[in-house]
Amino acid sequence: MKHRRLRVRGLVQGVGFRPYVWRLAHELGLTGWVRNDGEGVDIEAHGSEAALAALIDRLPRELPRLARIDSLESIPASPAKLSDFSIIDSGSGPVATAIGPDAALCPECIADICNPHGRRWRYAFTTCTHCGPRYTVSRSIPYDRASTSLAGFPLCPPCHGEYTDPADRRFHAETTCCPECGPHLSLLDADGQPVAGDPVAETLHRLLAGEIVALKGLGGFHLACDAWNAGTVSRLRERKAREEKPFAVMGLNAAAFTGLAEIDGDALALLQSAAAPIVLCRKGSTDLPDIAPGLGWIGTMLPTTPLHLLLWHEAAGRPAGSDWLNAPHDMLLVMTSANPQGEPLVIDNDEALERLSGIADAFLVHDRDIVVRCDDSVAFATPGGAPAFIRRARGYTPVPIPLAADGPTVLAFGAYLKNTVCVMKGREAFLSQHIGGLENAAAIGFQEEVVEHLLAILDVQPELVAHDLHPDFASTRLATAYAAERGIPAFAVGHHHAHIAAIAAEHGHTEPLLGLALDGVGLGSDGGLWGGELLLFDGADCERLGHLPELALPGGDRAAREPWRMAGSALAACDRGGDVADFIARRHPGHDGARLAQMLAKHLNCPPTSSLGRLFDAAAGLLGLRSVMRYEGQAAMELEGLAARHGAAPPLPEAFVPGQGPDFSRLLSLLADCDDVSYGAALFHSTVAAALADWARVAAAQLGLAHIACGGGCALNRVLMTALRTHLAKYGLNLLEARQAPPNDGGIALGQAWIARHI
Ligand SMILES: [Zn+2]
Ligand SMILES: [Zn+2]
Repeated sequence: MKHRRLRVRGLVQGVGFRPYVWRLAHELGLTGWVRNDGEGVDIEAHGSEAALAALIDRLPRELPRLARIDSLESIPASPAKLSDFSIIDSGSGPVATAIGPDAALCPECIADICNPHGRRWRYAFTTCTHCGPRYTVSRSIPYDRASTSLAGFPLCPPCHGEYTDPADRRFHAETTCCPECGPHLSLLDADGQPVAGDPVAETLHRLLAGEIVALKGLGGFHLACDAWNAGTVSRLRERKAREEKPFAVMGLNAAAFTGLAEIDGDALALLQSAAAPIVLCRKGSTDLPDIAPGLGWIGTMLPTTPLHLLLWHEAAGRPAGSDWLNAPHDMLLVMTSANPQGEPLVIDNDEALERLSGIADAFLVHDRDIVVRCDDSVAFATPGGAPAFIRRARGYTPVPIPLAADGPTVLAFGAYLKNTVCVMKGREAFLSQHIGGLENAAAIGFQEEVVEHLLAILDVQPELVAHDLHPDFASTRLATAYAAERGIPAFAVGHHHAHIAAIAAEHGHTEPLLGLALDGVGLGSDGGLWGGELLLFDGADCERLGHLPELALPGGDRAAREPWRMAGSALAACDRGGDVADFIARRHPGHDGARLAQMLAKHLNCPPTSSLGRLFDAAAGLLGLRSVMRYEGQAAMELEGLAARHGAAPPLPEAFVPGQGPDFSRLLSLLADCDDVSYGAALFHSTVAAALADWARVAAAQLGLAHIACGGGCALNRVLMTALRTHLAKYGLNLLEARQAPPNDGGIALGQAWIARHI
């Protein structure tokens, strides 16, 4: 008989860990106990040496789906006379009552839904400790049923039996329920009147008949329609006033996307993960009409909730068992956030009827409230199936990003577009879900809601506030008002400094490093319009070592939406100002090239910027790819798609001038005369990447640094980043990239908070 005490740290509370230990211990014939405490999970086990060794060996290998072990310590324990193994009350210290992220439907719950003899056959709210809503149904801590929107649904006796049985996977599953005791679906027509019949069958029928149906999801409503039906998709675009922005498409499995998207092993692992984000994959040989026009990528997703699954289950003829899940099924549904006019997601039933009136033909709703909005996450898959975020929200919020050091509690308010807020507490940073552009009162109100909810579920009060340097951002105004009300300090943080700090924070990097901030236009510390900066980053200090050659922004903000203007600007920058009018007439007919030439010649309303984002727009304009953008980043994304399909082109050698920095005048001039758009796109990417790498190499050698952090919106460009990574590796330099937060403005609050801690 041997005796061990095991200390487990990590993501081990609220994820079915104690019953997992309980089951293993019973299987191995051990006696003892398991409990939660302030540090994680505490276990005492008594039994044969072999059984104890098996417990320690198996614990990390057969983990519940949402659990993660960061450390497992084992020390000898005193003998104890116990007859059984039990789950006991919590030990000393505050038990981490953290609320987890929403998790996609688990395989066991799928089996329950597809079991015609079970209690949860076709039940749209089936969940267990391994899956289901958490963050979006929780009002406050501690995470228990009473603080979730299931509070109004008391458990029926069979559900209560499962909830209190450690052998059941619904032991302490706070949102568990069944058709007897839980919420129910109902389908409403366009006027909000209930539709008779089975809500799932009727919804499917309408979708396949070409209707647009609003579906109540985990963190908000989706608008769904048949992705194969070009007429419906264009009607959705028209009604949602979303001209060309890409839609994500949901299919039953990877086979559903054959020919449409290249879903490799990494992408599939990410799609099938508990977070189940939208995964951007390269388009295949065929293209769905009007889904992601002009882009090289398509957003794919798998059914993440029982409701989604039931639509395919219905389409497959309500099969029993799980074999049907792997069979090809050709139904593909557009799933787009129901956020009319760029306002926050719709979450309430009444709100849906009102705000989606004229957009949705029907509404599939239910009576489980969504407590807080949370959009779908969007990511690329990296090797091993980890995400590289474009947008971090459902499935990830509020999972903390671990930090290298402790410090005061900070609340950071982010920037303007793609806003998120961040609470830094102890050695963890909690980045909020994607809030979006703070362009209207509703979005600003949503930011306030998120701040309040995040602080409530973390149960903290900030000691410091951080915000962008820009005085006119709504986030800046909210931050300074917030700090003034509470009498706590507020720090303004430079936009590009924060981009680099976000990467240093997630990598736990505390030494000086070089930063490449590659972004759209942002306010610099000298009042200039930055966005292509080489920075020497050292905690709270940030020195601008250099910047990309400046281009004029003819017409100011309009130039950021109209690449034809940037094309003229680029021509003027390579001493071809005299060609502007002719060039615009040729490549961008219908736009006033003569006036543009005048503006540029006389420097009228032409503020200079070093933004790499605008350089991309200039390249797209020079190649005649696009005159006017329908959404932010469109021209650069189209350029990237062309470059990806073309494959690498050798870079121009003279784009980096030693002693000066990058110089793109020859490149831009070549693009103006280039008729092979794909080659031009590839040449632009390869040349910019090579010049950036040379720039960093020279500075790194001078300063004796080995790490380059690359952040900003342009760091989402996979072609650019792949080439940059290759060059830097060749030079023996280490590229730090944003992985736990998006590199764009969606991650900037993390950097702001980190800097506030270092001031
Ligand atoms: Zn489950
Ligand atoms: Zn029940």
